[in-house]
Parts: sequence; structure tokens; C-alpha cells
Amino acid sequence: MEPPNIERLDERTVQRIAAGEVVERPASVVKELIENSLDAGASRVAVSVEAGGTEGVRVRDDGVGIPADQLEAAVAEHATSKIGDIEDLDHGVGTLGFRGEALYTVGAVSRLTVRSRPPGADAGAEITVEGGEVGEVRPAGCPAGTTVEVEDLFYNTPARKKFLKRTATEFDRINTVVTGYALANPDVAVSLEHDGRETFATEGNGDLRSAVLAVYGREVAEAMVDVEWEPSDSDVDPPVRRVTGLVSHPETTRSTREYLATYVNDRYVTASALREAVLEAYGGQLAPDRYPFAVLFVEVPPGDVDVNVHPRKLEVRFDEEPAVRAAIEEAVEAALLDHGLIRSTAPRG
Ligand code: ADP
Ligand code: MG
Repeated sequence: MEPPNIERLDERTVQRIAAGEVVERPASVVKELIENSLDAGASRVAVSVEAGGTEGVRVRDDGVGIPADQLEAAVAEHATSKIGDIEDLDHGVGTLGFRGEALYTVGAVSRLTVRSRPPGADAGAEITVEGGEVGEVRPAGCPAGTTVEVEDLFYNTPARKKFLKRTATEFDRINTVVTGYALANPDVAVSLEHDGRETFATEGNGDLRSAVLAVYGREVAEAMVDVEWEPSDSDVDPPVRRVTGLVSHPETTRSTREYLATYVNDRYVTASALREAVLEAYGGQLAPDRYPFAVLFVEVPPGDVDVNVHPRKLEVRFDEEPAVRAAIEEAVEAALLDHGLIRSTAPRG
């Protein structure tokens, strides 16, 4: 056998391989774009997708916008306005994004247009990226804020495109993502449209129950009870600072865990430990294989949680996971007991 000939990959190939790590499917594009809109302080975020996002994804916001002379930087590799250096990371990042790679990687595997006008500017501008090829910045008429359009996702990475599921399945994932952010940000009017039909639109009036009503409907909204938990005053350095949100009546359930939404320091996470803690609180009150609705916000000291474990950032690691689980269980149990929805089985305390 011949000895191997080791060669450096060309830049385009490296770019497309790396893109696959961040952008796995249309829902990951939607996630990145919504996070950018929220980081930009938007009070409205309108998401519209075509064919489960495989043909088109558009996210429009009314946030701070991107000045024309920064559009090139916005789509460049490792370019971000959110952190300066590694020190900033150690102090805990206040924004949802910080890697400066989302627009760059999306642009590598699609036809991307970023159109923006900061509220103070009298003219807007746009830039397009096609398969990593960055075009010129052009003037463009647009409302204040930013619109990002992603067309033909994975057109130049056929292997990845083949791996996409049916349109309906891809749309379900998008719906889950957008719902997650809509519930986490009841003060932002979030809407979702699929092939021209509105799926839901929240009011953005700051009320969590109203957001639940918009996304899950009246039956679910009316079956939700408030969760409000704080550590006892004697705890000087509590591992959990607050647990708040809504959980459903034990009879208002679905057959998947998908509606158990947990947030840590306002970031949506899919930590099975947290979901388990919620389920524990229901004791034996749930029918077999039925899962309640929950929208739960857990606040922990920022230094006690690592959200930086994966580029898709859905998982977290806690310094004190058992304490977090215990707080959630206690919080949900207290809410259910308060409303007479479960019976206390043992004296507590
Ligand atoms: P990151 O979010 O990690 O900074 P992105 O590639 O997602 O990286 O975005 C790059 C930069 O482009 C952001 O840091 C921000 O300055 C700007 N940007 C992206 N989307 C928006 C938006 N919707 N509104 C305002 N600025 C944006
Ligand atoms: Mg981002």
C-alpha cells in the first residue's frame, strides 16, 4: 500500500463541513435567526417558512438593525458584536449568540440575503451570500429592523439535503423551536407562518398565559396553574434562585414529552433531568405514557451553569444538578397541591 498523501482541504470544503456542525436542518437556521433577532432587542419577530423551511426561511424583526457598513462583517467568519474576548465568555454571556458563525455558515450552504435598516438610518441596505460567495452591499428599501432570507438550504451539499425528513416533519421541528422562543419571551410578538398560512402569533404583551393561549389554544391555557418558588430566606447562597412558570392540570396531557418546556436563565434547554423532575412532582397522578404541559423558568447563578457544551446549545451542565432537580420538583408540587390537583402523600419538610 502507498503511504498516504496528506493535503490541506480547500477553504470551501472546510466551510461546508463546518456548516454541518451548526446547521443541521431548517429548524437550526430558524433557531439562529430568532436568537439574532432577540439579541437585537426586537419587540416583533415574524418567521415565515416555505416547504418545511427547505425552500425558504424568512425572519423579520424590528430590532436595532445592522448599519450598511457592517453588513459584510455580519456575514463573515467568527465576526460578532456580542463578545470581545475569552474573558467575556468567562463572565457569562448575556446574549443568546456569541460565536459569530451563524450567518457565515448559513451563507455557506444556501442563498442568504440580509437586509437591514437601523431605526435611525434613512436608507436600508442588503448583502447576499450564495454558497459562501459574498456579494456587494447594495441599497435596499426596507422597514426599520432586519430581514434575513435563506433560500434553497443545502443546495450545494446534496448529502445533507438528502438527510432531511418530510416537509411536515421539518416543519414540526421549526414549530417547536419558534414555540420555545415565543413562550420564553412573552414580551415579544412572535409569529410563525408556513406556506402562507399563519400557525400562531403571540401578542407580545408580557403575559405568559396569553402566549400559551396563542400557541397551544384555550383548552391548554385554561388548564395551566402558576408556579412560583423561591429558596428560603435562610439560604444565603442558594443554588437555585427562582422557579416560575406554568404547568398543566394532570389530566391535560399529550403522548410526548415535547410540551415540557424548560428554560435555564431564559435559555431553552432540553435537559431530561429537568423534565424528569417535573414528572416526579405529579406523583402517580399522570396516566401511563401521558405527559403534562409545562413552561418552566429556572434561575441559577450564571457561574453555576455551562451552556457552552454544544454549538446547538440545547444542553446544559449544572454544578449542582441535584439541587436544581429538587427545586423544580418542590416548585411544581407546591403549585399542584395549592390547586388541589394532587394529594400530598407524605408530610413534607
Ligand atoms: P453571533 O450571533 O454569534 O454574534 P451571527 O453570525 O449570528 O453571530 O451574527 C453576526 C452579527 O451580525 C451579530 O453579532 C450581530 O451584530 C449581527 N446581526 C445578526 N443578525 C442580526 C439582527 N437580526 N439584528 C441586528 N444585528 C444582527
Ligand atoms: Mg447569532
